[in-house]
Amino acid sequence: MTSHVIYDDLTEDFLQELVAHYSNNPHQFSRRENKLTKNIDVYLKTDRTPLDWNVLKETARKNIFNDVFRAYQNVGSGSLTESHMLFEDIRSEKRIVLTDSLMSVLEDESTKKVLHNENQARWAVVEEAWKVGITPNILSYNSEDGLFYSETKKHRIGLRSAVDTLSPYQKGRCFYCNRKVSKFVLSDHDDFSDIDHFFPISKLSKIDSSVPNPNGIWNLVVSCKKCNRGKEGKFDQPADRQYYEALVKRNILFFEEHKHSLKNAISLSLGAKSKKDILTRMVQIYKQFQPLRAWKPEYIFRTEDEK
Ligand SMILES: [Zn+2]
Repeated sequence: MTSHVIYDDLTEDFLQELVAHYSNNPHQFSRRENKLTKNIDVYLKTDRTPLDWNVLKETARKNIFNDVFRAYQNVGSGSLTESHMLFEDIRSEKRIVLTDSLMSVLEDESTKKVLHNENQARWAVVEEAWKVGITPNILSYNSEDGLFYSETKKHRIGLRSAVDTLSPYQKGRCFYCNRKVSKFVLSDHDDFSDIDHFFPISKLSKIDSSVPNPNGIWNLVVSCKKCNRGKEGKFDQPADRQYYEALVKRNILFFEEHKHSLKNAISLSLGAKSKKDILTRMVQIYKQFQPLRAWKPEYIFRTEDEK
């Protein structure tokens, strides 16, 4: 099944979103000003009439698609492979063709919701940080409010729900038992989404005094309440090797995200400049936990169970 959308049908929504983000936080566009962002600036500072909006829309129509469509399917240092493309951009006809991959995402309400939350959470991390004039550096988790904080010597700023930021990478499932988790159920439910410190804080500082921030994103996963602190839960045990390997993989994935806040967060908290550095540092830490009894959940939920 394929479908297509013409550029003109997207202009209004795109512009509205852009103006909303811009009025919330003008800093975000300052680094690469173009005609469109300058015009948005003028628009926001003067009396706004429907006529002004139409003029703005005309500029948007001419400007936006080059940047957006080209950049959208870049992940890490390259582009998505053809089989994973979300759309095909047919510039000469000013339309995009939606692929089956995108259609399958759009048809699944829960995936759609997870993606939307992630987008918003990630934008918010960056925007909140810019608003107070800092780059989103080490994202440090605070268990009392469930928020990520950006920490520098001068600032400690609450940014965004850690669960929203991390959960999409786990497709909304527990890192350990693969159960669907939710932040909307009561906190004593088995499937309540908790943030788990992979290497338990209580042991981390005793085992290796040079470890990076234990509350850093490098050490955090979303887990269900049962796995984290339920009966037979993980508590302050290290997890089984397969989970360690999954964590390393995920941290490298975050690191590879071009110019993204999560890249900074991983790189700064592990003192890593390359993929190899991350691996070396993770291995060093993991080795010290190896003598301890490793934990794993009793039951693994199968993905098909949801359907
Ligand atoms: Zn679990």
